[in-house]
Amino acid sequence: MKNGDRLLFSEGSRISFVGRKVACPLLCSLLVGPGCSVFSSPGAPSPELGVISVQRHEIQLTIDPTSHRMRGLDRVTIQAGRREVRAFSVTLNKALVVAWVSSEGKLLPFYPRPVPPSTELDTRHAHQVVVQLDRPARAGETLIVDFDYAGEINDPPKEPRHLRFVTPSETSGYIGPEGVYIGPETYWYPDVPDSLASYRVTATTPPGWEVIGQGGLVAHEARADVTIATWDASAPAEGLTLAAGKFVVEMRMSGDTEIATYLYPEDAGLADEYLSAAAAYLDAYAQVLGPYPFPRFSIGENFFASGLGMPSYALLGAGSIRRHYTQPYALGHEIVHSWIGNHVFNDNDGNWAEGLTTYLANYYWHELKGDLQRAREERRMMLLSYAVYVPPDQDYPVVQFKRKSDQRDNAIGYNKAAMVFHMLRREIGDDRFFAALRTLVAEYGSRRIGWRDVEALFSRVSSRDLHPFFARWINRAGAADVKPEADPDYHAFRRIPRRELHPMLNLFVTDPRRILVIPAVDSAAEPYRELAERVAKREGVALRTAGEVGAAGKDLRDTSVLLLGGPNAGLAFAWAARGLPPGVELRPDGFRVGGKDYHGSRMALLFCFRNPDDPAHVVSVFYGLSPEAVKPVAPLLFFYGWNSYLVFEDGAVIARGDEPLRPAEGATDGAKTERHLRKIRQLTHGRQNAEAYFSFDGRSLIFQSTRDGRGCYQQYVMGVDGSDVRMVSTGRGTTTCGFFLPGDRRVLYSSTHAKGPQCPPKPSARGRYLWSLEEYDIYTTTLRGEDLVRLTTAPGYDAEATIAPDGSRIVFTSVRDDDLDIYSMRLDGTDVKRLTSVPGYDGGPFFSPDSTRIVYRAHHPTDPADLARYRELLARNLVEPSRLELFVMDADGRNQRQVTRNGAANFAPSFHPDGRRIIFSSNLTPSLEGGGEGGGARPIFHLYLINDDGQGLEQVTAEGGFNSFPMFSPDGSKLVWVSDRGAKEKGEFNVFLADWAP
Ligand SMILES: [Zn+2]
Repeated sequence: MKNGDRLLFSEGSRISFVGRKVACPLLCSLLVGPGCSVFSSPGAPSPELGVISVQRHEIQLTIDPTSHRMRGLDRVTIQAGRREVRAFSVTLNKALVVAWVSSEGKLLPFYPRPVPPSTELDTRHAHQVVVQLDRPARAGETLIVDFDYAGEINDPPKEPRHLRFVTPSETSGYIGPEGVYIGPETYWYPDVPDSLASYRVTATTPPGWEVIGQGGLVAHEARADVTIATWDASAPAEGLTLAAGKFVVEMRMSGDTEIATYLYPEDAGLADEYLSAAAAYLDAYAQVLGPYPFPRFSIGENFFASGLGMPSYALLGAGSIRRHYTQPYALGHEIVHSWIGNHVFNDNDGNWAEGLTTYLANYYWHELKGDLQRAREERRMMLLSYAVYVPPDQDYPVVQFKRKSDQRDNAIGYNKAAMVFHMLRREIGDDRFFAALRTLVAEYGSRRIGWRDVEALFSRVSSRDLHPFFARWINRAGAADVKPEADPDYHAFRRIPRRELHPMLNLFVTDPRRILVIPAVDSAAEPYRELAERVAKREGVALRTAGEVGAAGKDLRDTSVLLLGGPNAGLAFAWAARGLPPGVELRPDGFRVGGKDYHGSRMALLFCFRNPDDPAHVVSVFYGLSPEAVKPVAPLLFFYGWNSYLVFEDGAVIARGDEPLRPAEGATDGAKTERHLRKIRQLTHGRQNAEAYFSFDGRSLIFQSTRDGRGCYQQYVMGVDGSDVRMVSTGRGTTTCGFFLPGDRRVLYSSTHAKGPQCPPKPSARGRYLWSLEEYDIYTTTLRGEDLVRLTTAPGYDAEATIAPDGSRIVFTSVRDDDLDIYSMRLDGTDVKRLTSVPGYDGGPFFSPDSTRIVYRAHHPTDPADLARYRELLARNLVEPSRLELFVMDADGRNQRQVTRNGAANFAPSFHPDGRRIIFSSNLTPSLEGGGEGGGARPIFHLYLINDDGQGLEQVTAEGGFNSFPMFSPDGSKLVWVSDRGAKEKGEFNVFLADWAP
């Protein structure tokens, strides 16, 4: 059984098997039948017990929730080990009384005895039943033995004890009116540890109850008096867990797999969401790992908090179900366990399945979906969790991880192990890595394997001796000795030094020195005091009142501090205020953070920063503007441990962010974060300047500008130092997309002047961002604006023209065939060839340095409604570029391939001089801060680099809210782009040039 991941899923301990003291076993009751006569005395001489394994259980189970009771009739197929067996033992819950045991038609003597102490299993509420065979079983012989037993399973789930995370409630098994949960740790059927058995269970419950089991549902009968369901799990598994409740069942097929939800009536409306999510995961991971190994996947709603993955089903607490826990780290994680952990099992040589499942679900899902920014963020979070929760002196090797009981285990057994698989993948390459995964599932299904087997398998499939790799990463503690500059995208498992982490609540949580400061007593302080008492009690944190510490911050100077309180909290805030970074303010009626002001009684803030007296520690301030703003956040405060600040409105997060590290000595912020850009020069000053592109010799630029008081763009050329600006277009109409022709004596650009001398009217966007497709045609002219030659004559839009570095052809975008597509032509406008034809927008083409390939942007609506909308806008000469993805193709239009899949507006791509990477502009990092002075949020566009296979996303710019139209100089030494950084007026953007630092 697998506990899942983050928050509810991961943060917790495993279900700990703390059984309650079981009441005296009932005497052989009416429910049980006639077996008392064969109950042998525990005092009888003990026969020598043989070694057996269980191969199959066929269980007739009756459940009575009202009385907490069950009765089982288990037909157990056992197999004798290497020696003859005369007697054997099974483990069973102490509260279950065996009525009789029989084999081959004969009753067998049996007696209970305590379980010998074991380090592996918690068997406090189990005992053993020793059974004497009627005749010896030969070595290897299989034998069928029937057990009839009954009793009460009544260990009500207890509230989890942790403060920081929601953990699964603790129970060893429960049958009651709220629901039923019985699993291997319940010992509700006679079992032998370490057996891998198949199971068939026919469960009888009261009418209206539904049982969720493993494998396939092979029979189901809902009668007036009872419901009878038969589940068959033919693939051997480590145990059998059943859940039951008064569920509404929904089912659908996904390929050959049945997907079902078992939800309480009040949540039945969520069925579709879960069924669709499960179908998407099953489909995606079947392609990665091979066919789904079970006939069915069920999602059950649990009556206590849990995130559990059993073979072929997941059991999520009602709270989780209602919070839409369909994310990769939640439902996705449990579904991946269907292959990894619940089909191929861990042996006792350490737990590799959690690391691999975490890698494939929590992390790799984002790569699969093309969300590379998110994938990078997941890698960063894995390193953060190790940095925060695993101090060097508490580290241990991955091989020692068995199961999770705290955050340190999570950081090592889940996150580090996941990063090890990431490094392994980069070491041996995608093809071999994924081939090895499919081999793992195909060869080791229904078997137990350990790290040594994993190492051998990957070595075999990759034809490499990977022992040094595994010895380094699995058998040894620690992280890679890699400098942050050498690994800006977090591909290596390295330790981020604690002092370099951005301030966050988790640094308070994990600091051995910490103090909690609570406000003076008044009615507004009540919610803080409740929180404080909880923290103090469970975490053993020292408490001070705001009055005690005073404005001098008594006792707070060499410790981490959690400062609770609102506007009336007292003088402690005066001490803390000294450490607030510039631009952050706490006021009686509001606060300012992240460049934005927040007001009003619904707002609360969690803000973390370095202790002003000792930056080795952090101060976290939880500051609410009213008790009502504090109450909904307080119980969940420690969920928000990873950010430097979070703004809450009525308890919901509306903004969050991380305080950047302090810049290194002598460096400016920009130089630190825009590491590729050196010596940034602003070439234009004021108004709108855009689309600046290099001449063939790299010494000049052509760009468009509204300078000289113009209402729309004209074309200009200038030197790369910004000198010698000269207009080259006609001054009539509007223009766009200039480009030098080979030889740099002429330029081309697109212009509307043939339609009229005025600026075309702007489209009325009504809140949406629309591009207007004017009646552009492409012209060439000399650098003096003379000898104008028209290259295109088709009606409608012809623009976005660029020229191959070898000077062979022009590529451009046109609507001539009633769709927006890319065309190429000779430099004189002849020999026009259409390169794209998929319905939707294709445009912005740019040649690779060797002129053999083209990168471009496209949006191909597949949904009929989207396509209709695209066509309707196109008919009005409009495009809504809210979603654009990058593509590459050969220069002749063949081999079109999508590069990004992030759903953002990715545009203005051009090639890096290496011909493999692409630089482009995108809003893929969502803006959480408002648009500054203007108020409302707006997207932020930055430049990014990405490999042409969609890997290796890297952010290039960090300044300003708009960065676009990047182009490398022909020799690769410089980058020109357009940005609003340093703008003096709203709507101003300028041309910038920087030296490129590789
Ligand atoms: Zn797991």
